Amino acid sequence: MPRGQVPRQPARTGRQDKVRAAQSASSKKARVERSAGDKDARVGTGAFARPAPTGRQKKGRQKTTPKPASPLSGKVSGKPKAYNPIAPDRVADILQRLDHLYPNVTCALTHSSAWELVVATILSAQSTDVNVNRVTPELFRKYPTVQAFAALTPEQLEPDVRSTGFFRNKSKSVVGAAKKIVADFGGQVPDDMEKLLTLPGVARKTANVVLGSWFGKAEGVVVDTHVHRISRRLELTKQNDPVKIEQDLMKVIPREKWILFSHQIIHHGRKLCIARKPKCAECSLENLCHAGDKTWSTVDMHPDAKV
Ligand code: SF4
Repeated sequence: MPRGQVPRQPARTGRQDKVRAAQSASSKKARVERSAGDKDARVGTGAFARPAPTGRQKKGRQKTTPKPASPLSGKVSGKPKAYNPIAPDRVADILQRLDHLYPNVTCALTHSSAWELVVATILSAQSTDVNVNRVTPELFRKYPTVQAFAALTPEQLEPDVRSTGFFRNKSKSVVGAAKKIVADFGGQVPDDMEKLLTLPGVARKTANVVLGSWFGKAEGVVVDTHVHRISRRLELTKQNDPVKIEQDLMKVIPREKWILFSHQIIHHGRKLCIARKPKCAECSLENLCHAGDKTWSTVDMHPDAKV
C-alpha cells in the first residue's frame, strides 16, 4: 500500500456510509435482472429458460403424478379413503373367521344350574376357568342348593374357595347373592338384567354370562379380560372401561351374535391371542389385525391402529 494512504475504516456512528444506498441499488438491479429472466423464460430465450408450455398446459400448473398408494394407507388411486376398523364388511369378515375357527363353543365354566353358574362366574374373577372348575364340583356337592349357601356365613365358605384368589370378597359375594335370591326372588335366579344387578358381587359381566349362557338371552356382550384385550387388538373399540367396551361391541356386532362372539373371543384369547406374545403366525385373523403388539405380521401397520 503506498505510503500516506490509510485503509477505509468503519464509520464511528456505527452506520456504514452508503451501504444502504448500495444495497438498494443492487437489489433494484437484481429485480430488473430477474424480471428480464422471467421474460426470457416466458419467451424461451433465457439461459435457464424452461420449455414454454404448450396447448392446455399453458393455462394451469403442470399436474404431478400421484404416488401409488400403500394397500393399507386407505388411499385408492389417489383418492384418500379413511381406514375404518369398524366398517361392516371388516366386522363381518372377523365374525365369519371366528365362526370358522370356533364353530360350537360354549361357556367353559362347569355348572348344571343358573345358581351354579352365578357362583362359578363370581369365583372366576382374577382366576382361570380351569382353576374354578377344580373347586366347584366339590363345592356344589357340599352345598347343593342356593338355600344351603344362604345358610352360611362368608367365613364358613372361605376355606372352600380360597384357591381361586380374593377369597374373602368372593365368599362375601356368593353368600350375599344366595341370601338375596332366597329372600327376594323365591330361591330362583332372576332372568332379568336389572334384577341380577341387584345381587351382591354381580356386575354386567356376570349378569351377561348368566343371561346368555343359561337363559339364552342376549342382553349384552360379556366383557372379560380376553374380550377386553382382543376387542382392542382388533380395533373394535378404543375404550378401556368394560362398560364402554360393551357399548361399543353392542353397536358393531349384530345382536344375534352377542352370546357366541364372547365365547369365541374367550376361546381365541386362551388358545392364540394370549396376553403376552400372541401366536399371530397361527391366527386366521392375522391379515385383518393391526394390533400394536403383534408378534408376526404380513400386513403394514395402519398408522391409526394402536393398542
Ligand atoms: S393376529 Fe395376533 S394379535 Fe391379532 S388377533 Fe390374531 S393372535 Fe391376536
